[in-house]
Amino acid sequence: MATLHDLADLIFKDVTLTIEDLEKKFPPRNLAKDAMVTRFAPSPTGFLHTGSLFTSLVSYTLAKQSNGVFYTRLEDTDTKREIAGSGANLIKQLEFFGINPDEGYLSDDKEVGNYGPYKQSLRADIYKVVIKHLLLIGRAYPCFCNQEELAELRAYQEAHKIIPGYYGQYAKCRNLTVDEQIALIKAGKPYIIRFKSLGDHNNKIKVHDEIRGDLELTENDQDIVILKSDGLPTYHFAHLVDDHFMHTTHITRGEEWLSSLPIHIDLFNACNFPLPKYAHLPVIMKEENGNRRKLSKRKDKEAAVSFFIEEGYPKYAVIEYLLTLANSNYEMWREENLDKPYTDFILSFNKMSLDGALFDLEKIANIAKERLALKKAKEVEEELKAWAFNYDKPFYQKIVANEDFITAILNIDREKAKPRKDYAKYSDIYPLIKFFYNDEFAKLQELGYEWDETKDKKEIIDILTYYKDNYTLANDESCWFEDLKAICPKFNYAANTKDYKKNKEAYKGHVGDIASYLRIALTTHKNSPNLYSILAILGKDEVIRRLDLAIKDLNN
Ligand code: GLU
Repeated sequence: MATLHDLADLIFKDVTLTIEDLEKKFPPRNLAKDAMVTRFAPSPTGFLHTGSLFTSLVSYTLAKQSNGVFYTRLEDTDTKREIAGSGANLIKQLEFFGINPDEGYLSDDKEVGNYGPYKQSLRADIYKVVIKHLLLIGRAYPCFCNQEELAELRAYQEAHKIIPGYYGQYAKCRNLTVDEQIALIKAGKPYIIRFKSLGDHNNKIKVHDEIRGDLELTENDQDIVILKSDGLPTYHFAHLVDDHFMHTTHITRGEEWLSSLPIHIDLFNACNFPLPKYAHLPVIMKEENGNRRKLSKRKDKEAAVSFFIEEGYPKYAVIEYLLTLANSNYEMWREENLDKPYTDFILSFNKMSLDGALFDLEKIANIAKERLALKKAKEVEEELKAWAFNYDKPFYQKIVANEDFITAILNIDREKAKPRKDYAKYSDIYPLIKFFYNDEFAKLQELGYEWDETKDKKEIIDILTYYKDNYTLANDESCWFEDLKAICPKFNYAANTKDYKKNKEAYKGHVGDIASYLRIALTTHKNSPNLYSILAILGKDEVIRRLDLAIKDLNN
């Protein structure tokens, strides 16, 4: 009679290492007792989801603040779903947001760390050691069922309203004798390897989740596939082996994995590996017509992290927004610590909400406006330049052609008690300031000046002509405004709006109207940033040129 040894040797002829060898090869990390080892373990199936950025941020922050390790691992065992090149791209986007792994997979030809390879498809030999062990202790077995047999089983279970799956009495191949198994393998019958669960779905298991507390879940009894016919393990099995040998202390992942937790616990126990701690993070939701649903790849542009990068949301605004979703006390901390970097905030599991976090694009925009407004113009200029280099080349060319010019523009109404807050993202900037550039100004002129049609054109021409002929620019804003007021009586305009409002018939307009004529002459728009700053930045020659152009336009 053949033994499990014979079976294990037949299936894994080349596997000579044992679990003990692996334990020696990947010894415990030399870290302080409370240091957390966390990971981000994406599958290379496309783009970085905003939810993944969120879980990575939490995982990374927890590792950093405990002097632990945050690493990346590419879970690429599902080769059918793989999109070539997407693995490296995911990591690049993560790093873009300042989430720099201490070790792990960085790209298909770059990884760092002593616990690798960090790409699952390169770890087949490691998984086989553990599977061989499970075979030897009778906790794994070859399954010869083909697709039709499995489909039949499913149909039968559905028809009889039985819990679906390959388990217990329905797990046909778990009852084969070793002799039968060996004979079938030798006869060349295709097979995969399944885990042999000893669980029962009538039982409950107790599990502790760092966020959710003590949970009672249904015990696993499914004999899940652990080794596929392509020689690679399934996700459930691979992640467990990796988290064990890479010494993950906390598995921090989306709550969509909570339902598979009993399988993972069953596997950990069968392998006799200590359980790591678990924290299932809330999934990011979206409200639509009063209903909540998961942020969806297909429907929501903000589900892809690339959206924020391309639109030019400042990365710190996106991160700070995600921190507000992660911990309810973040906003208060931020208000009290305006000058501190967000990395000073201490993240904790017990301040994490249990409900799905509701995604709010407008809130990111508000955070971005607040944060951008507090920066020095030069800093904003550097950020803008880096963004424009990738996403707005024509603007980039303009920026580098005259950096002092754009810095002066960005400095308008900045470094004041109430700085202006009109930019939420870098892509907001150009449309608001492009009139400063002469080529753009010419295009705006083509589109037409926004003159106030209720005012007499001749009067506007006279005022602009007078302003041009007497042009000087006081070197502070309030003196300049006094000068502007001084013009008013010459044209029967009120020097202040209060007087005008009291006695509208007595005047043709007020000082605000004169400012408005100037504004339209210089920008073509009724609304613009601070007029005094515009005059100062354009400089006398350009101001005179634009006033001439405006007068010409009014004369037509
Ligand atoms: N590879 C899994 C995913 O794509 C990782 C889940 C986990 O963190 O355990 O989401």
